Amino acid sequence: MSEITKAANEDYAYLKENIETLNQSIEAACRDSGRKVDEIHLIGVTKTYEPDVINASIRYGIREIAENRVQEITRKFEAISTDVEWHLIGHLQTNKVKYIIDKVKLIHSVDSLKLVEEIQKRAAQINKVQEILIQINIADEEQKFGIQPDDLPQLLESISKMNCVRVVGLMNIAPLVENVENLRADFKQMKRLFDGLEGLGYSNVKSEFLSMGMSNDYRVAIEEGSNMIRVGTAIYGKRNYTGGC
Ligand SMILES: *Cc1c(COP(=O)(O)O)cnc(C)c1O
Repeated sequence: MSEITKAANEDYAYLKENIETLNQSIEAACRDSGRKVDEIHLIGVTKTYEPDVINASIRYGIREIAENRVQEITRKFEAISTDVEWHLIGHLQTNKVKYIIDKVKLIHSVDSLKLVEEIQKRAAQINKVQEILIQINIADEEQKFGIQPDDLPQLLESISKMNCVRVVGLMNIAPLVENVENLRADFKQMKRLFDGLEGLGYSNVKSEFLSMGMSNDYRVAIEEGSNMIRVGTAIYGKRNYTGGC
């Protein structure tokens, strides 16, 4: 290891500690619920953080990262280690699909037929099969993106006719609550919807990833069946939103 890398690693020692603590906590949640640790995908949510910090977290074992804005992916993409897979977890406007279609492994936040049609079109242009999750507004919050559970069958039926899009699971964003125990019912309902995907019999709809759980609620989410958690604060620290948004 070069002197420069060594010095940089020392600056980011807190990341190493945070990631170790998080991994222990994930292990404990798995133990408590009879889950296997290696089933759980830990995604580092890197929004507002700069490439130097993100690359340090990759050196400490983060293998998948997520941003919630297209501009952040395009801005940082070239500066980030190639040892990582990119996820988009925020609302995606149809006219921005073209900027990220060649960069992201998984789009978590798909919530309309119009958006899937654009993803199909852009994926076809680059001979890619784009993996997506359908975002469900399970708590039925007014200000949130995501479709209602009742609208899922029809959306999946439409997607089943597309050849460059593959639905690999579901995602939700839980509301901020004081007591995370109150989220169990929603997480359970997500798991039921997720388990129902395979039974639809569509060749491009699979139940591989249930993306639920963030810094506050990932333990409960894992206990209720999540296998993909999106963790920002617990790895990188509290975000400082000065960049305007
Ligand atoms: C910011 C964000 C997260 C991570 O939130 P933390 O509470 O910092 O862990 C997860 N999912 C989505 C969709 C986000 O926008």
